[in-house]
Amino acid sequence: MIAANLGFPRIGAHRELKFALERFWAGECSEEQLQSTGRELRKAHWKLQAEAGIQHIPSNDFSFYDHVLDTAVMLGAVPSRFGRAATPDIRTYFAMARGTRSAPAMEMTKWFDTNYHYIVPEFEAGMEFRLNSEKVIDEFLEAKALGFETRPVILGPVSFAFLGKCVGGQANRLKIVRRLLPVYERLLVELGAAGAQWVQIDEPFLGLDLDPSERMMFTRAYGHLGTTLGRPQILLATYFSGLYENLRLALDFPVSAVHLDLVRAPEQLLPALRYVPEQMALSLGIVDGRNIWRTDFDRALAQVSAACDRIGPHRIQIAPSCSLLHVPVDLEEEPGLDPELRNSLAFARQKLEEVAFINRAGTDNSPDITSRLDESRRIRLQRRSSVRNSEVQARVAAVTDDMLSRRSCPSSRRVKQAEAIPLPVLPTTTIGSFPQTAEVRRSRAAFRSGQMTTAEYEEFLQKEIEKTIRFQEEIGLDVLVHGEFERNDMVEFFAEQMNGFAFTHNGWVQSYGSRCVKPPVVFGDISRKKPISVTWSSYAQSLTALPVKGMLTGPATMLQWSFVRDDLRREEVCCQLALTLREEVMDLERAGLRVIQVDEPALREGLPLRKKDRPQYLRWAVAGFRLATAGVSDQTQIHTHMCYSEFGEILPAIKEMDADVVSIEAARSGMTLLNEILPDGYSNEIGPGVYDIHSPRVPAVEEVEHLIRKALKIFHPEQLWINPDCGLKTRNWAEVQPALRHILIATRRVRGELMQTKLRSTLPLSETPNQENWPYQACSCT
Ligand code: GLN
Ligand code: ZN
Repeated sequence: MIAANLGFPRIGAHRELKFALERFWAGECSEEQLQSTGRELRKAHWKLQAEAGIQHIPSNDFSFYDHVLDTAVMLGAVPSRFGRAATPDIRTYFAMARGTRSAPAMEMTKWFDTNYHYIVPEFEAGMEFRLNSEKVIDEFLEAKALGFETRPVILGPVSFAFLGKCVGGQANRLKIVRRLLPVYERLLVELGAAGAQWVQIDEPFLGLDLDPSERMMFTRAYGHLGTTLGRPQILLATYFSGLYENLRLALDFPVSAVHLDLVRAPEQLLPALRYVPEQMALSLGIVDGRNIWRTDFDRALAQVSAACDRIGPHRIQIAPSCSLLHVPVDLEEEPGLDPELRNSLAFARQKLEEVAFINRAGTDNSPDITSRLDESRRIRLQRRSSVRNSEVQARVAAVTDDMLSRRSCPSSRRVKQAEAIPLPVLPTTTIGSFPQTAEVRRSRAAFRSGQMTTAEYEEFLQKEIEKTIRFQEEIGLDVLVHGEFERNDMVEFFAEQMNGFAFTHNGWVQSYGSRCVKPPVVFGDISRKKPISVTWSSYAQSLTALPVKGMLTGPATMLQWSFVRDDLRREEVCCQLALTLREEVMDLERAGLRVIQVDEPALREGLPLRKKDRPQYLRWAVAGFRLATAGVSDQTQIHTHMCYSEFGEILPAIKEMDADVVSIEAARSGMTLLNEILPDGYSNEIGPGVYDIHSPRVPAVEEVEHLIRKALKIFHPEQLWINPDCGLKTRNWAEVQPALRHILIATRRVRGELMQTKLRSTLPLSETPNQENWPYQACSCT
């Protein structure tokens, strides 16, 4: 058998890449210095993998920003607004990711159901694909020169095409795949000529629901690539989902091996073993690449032995379920963790040791192996007995249906809220956070390390909040926020005040570009230690007569952005979180907050990739939100916030959440996603973002105005809120101040026109698709 890896985290055990990138962007280091950090990281990672006992080590899994963006560059798919250079230089590369004054950034969206964001390829009419194989070949040769034989990883043509979007009348994706094939073919030939024995082609799309033409496209693509002369052996990698009805399709491709995610879909192993053709190997993804718990070796070895019996060890590769991009680098960096918990965990490096161990144990039962297996069983048993809390379990058991519903229907709540919270038409607000400046971060670090007293830190936060409240008042926002300066991270901050969570010191995972997150670890039953956000929200409210919005992170998001225990169903963990947040919501209301936002930016990414699994997930995720929020009175306005670029498919669930107002990301895609909402109609209030906060660009007044007008074509004026796409924490004040002022100017202009022309009463029906739901009728429950 062969021990293999599909991809290693690029960011570095101490986020070296992040810091190098940010220095480069700030003009504080040269391109050569940045490149040298890249080389050092790659070398360290190859070495670490070789030392762990990995035989198929990936290359080209490294990226300065994102591997999908790298693929676009490799294929010559550079949008014309970034120039027509044959090989874009690194500045152009970063411009594509981050935008410039004259060229907006390419869109960014979540990579399948992970919290990693990729840059969405754009296919323009007349775009000619051509091969820039430098990066792939150079990294392969770089490893070779260091003594590492690697297996280059590339994103496959079908997944690449389907991850992208067609702009400006470009042909459909199937045609794009067809045009990409000769480029991929050349790449395979070049890789073969460079001496690569194997290449890993990632096709995660094979794990999705495919229609017949998409299946055809796969057959065609791999029929073509598989028969390329002079190519390396191909490992076709699928992950994040089972192949199910696409399994036979994949196993019929003329490739040397297929990788299966046996953590997400263990049930596909037996059919795969039954069907796999004789000359093909299987790569068994049995070490979880998406979570940080140690592998259950008994389960894994049972799978390996079934495979060995059926097809023989020489046709088996042992691997993580997917790239290790989604887990932190090294548990060795966590000396501070509770030893018992630490014993139950494995990060990227430890996972590779597990892969190598399973690889040995699969065909060997010497005493050291047996004793390690005994030890691992002991640890698993111990963990099970130490994490339950009977009070929490009793509270979960006592949840009743009426706890899931507000007292009245949306329309009568609306009437009561309009009285309680007077607001103009097109009310303006922000999503919650204001810039996390160096000073804010420094103060928090000083407080945490004991260099700043609690009193000093609180005084600092009060000043920041007051400054932010005054700024919002001055520019004329309608619903204010306190700015979230006390929060390191929207999940970690809440988790820290809850029992059942643990925190790593250095467990960073890349989210996008140089941004990393450090997901907390849910290891036990969850309850609140004490009120979490009430002090700061009510302090902010005490400073102003305008409404201040309380800010919480929702249960589905807490769940999605944590590493969750693997010994309890996710829906039960969600319920525990919801009950905990419900107490917080009630406390905020009691403290006088009339508007409370419960963010669910991760609700959609938790959506199972297969349609058949979605209804059940949505049922419990929506129930979690309702359980958290439904306890408040009718007068209290519940907001939620989501940042997605696809909205349509979860629209029914969003309605079910029954929030009074929902704010969504829309600026980056130029409001196009609103069209998805249109056919279905949406009658609650909505704030489509008018400011892309992922980019340092400050939008011009006219640009914002244009977006507002676009939104007005779809929603009734009285339904519409004006706000940025998301929180402002990643931006600086120099960007945020003008951007928000522009938003306010644009809003006032449009408001003025609405008043003048009395658009409200004169809009023709055809232009107001939600007219039927408008004006809101008082219903029986008022
Ligand atoms: N309230 C959060 C903020 O403004 C929401 C962040 C998010 O959606 N990711 O930062
Ligand atoms: Zn957001």
